[in-house]
Amino acid sequence: MSFLTHLFPSHYYLDATSEVAFRHYIVQSTKNTMQRLVLLCVVLLVLFNLIDMSLGDNWFSLNNLTRLGIVLLLLIFLPCSFKLSAATYTQSWLALCALVIVLLNVTFYAAAQYFGKLGEGGPMVVAIALTAIPIFNVQQKILLWLLLLACLAFLKYCTATDTGWSVFYLSITILLCASWQRQLDILLRSQFKAVRLETQKAETDQLTGLFNRRSFEQRLQQKLQSLTPDQQLSLGLLDIDFFKRYNDHYGHLDGDLILVHISRLLSQDPNVLVVRFGGEEFILVEQHSSEQPPTLLSIPQQLFAQAHPHSQSPFGVVTASLGVVTIPYPAAHYSSSELMQLADSLLYRAKEQGRNQVQQQYITKQQDMAKQP
Ligand code: GH3
Ligand code: MG
Ligand code: MG
Repeated sequence: MSFLTHLFPSHYYLDATSEVAFRHYIVQSTKNTMQRLVLLCVVLLVLFNLIDMSLGDNWFSLNNLTRLGIVLLLLIFLPCSFKLSAATYTQSWLALCALVIVLLNVTFYAAAQYFGKLGEGGPMVVAIALTAIPIFNVQQKILLWLLLLACLAFLKYCTATDTGWSVFYLSITILLCASWQRQLDILLRSQFKAVRLETQKAETDQLTGLFNRRSFEQRLQQKLQSLTPDQQLSLGLLDIDFFKRYNDHYGHLDGDLILVHISRLLSQDPNVLVVRFGGEEFILVEQHSSEQPPTLLSIPQQLFAQAHPHSQSPFGVVTASLGVVTIPYPAAHYSSSELMQLADSLLYRAKEQGRNQVQQQYITKQQDMAKQP
């Protein structure tokens, strides 16, 4: 890793996809903070105008008018920014901050003309205020700080402004703030990583790696809501046949291996949501344009074809039974408990009628939910 890359945690700390997710998360979680920060800046700018006016400056001086311009810019842009996507939101604020920095230097210039000298505190306060913006990472802030420094150097060397020790103190402030920001970039990313890992663990079944029951509800709702008019949704409840006998005969470790094999078989189709409901029961959710759910209906046959020996089963191999309920678009008004109840009744029917089979029911109207098999 090159030295330069190492300076910027956003380039190496997370992989590219996680970095995008992290930035999205930061934007979403700090919108209120951004709002408070902007309002604080507005209050400070108005306060500076009042102080300058109390010291004898006109309200329409270049200094005061530029500050008022910045206030208007911030107040107009703030509500508009809420409608932007995460990436555009950050880029737009970056552009706006660059513009504000240039305008603030106009106020520095005007103040220096009025008072004879530019105080060192102004540029330092701006540099520190930039540090407080939560949505920018260290390299975005370095760009803004360098712009601030360049503007100040312009005032110092290209105009007759007495900037005192401003450039010196600003440079030191930038170095300190950049180092602090880099630490913060690392801390925020490591926290994001840890939270994601914890969430992943909480939603995943340890043995099979499938989603567990806890994450099922939310994922089913997403599937129900994302159904398109040309699609239907099928929810299946699968239960391994004679699995207690398998465990008793082959032992629990071999039983676990069967659960892992079956999980792999169920996960072959990436479009099917697979959840380990508990024990040896799995939930499958498939969206399909065809009349029947092709993947779901083929699963018992595929498992039978894999021929995992089961001497205690009348089939001689490991088999499973499946109850499948199919609903049309729009699916959002079906509740998960209704669908699960129906799938469970169909699974029971599959067991009763000899196991190693699928029982499916097509529901055309919500009223049919009441008519259980
Ligand atoms: P049926 O055909 O009626 O479904 O019979 P069954 O024996 O499969 O049904 P039952 O519900 O009586 O037994 C389920 C068994 O699943 C009981 C338990 O030993 C086994 N089981 C549940 N969770 C696990 C697990 O994580 N690992 C292993 N090896 N076995 C499990
Ligand atoms: Mg069971
Ligand atoms: Mg069973």
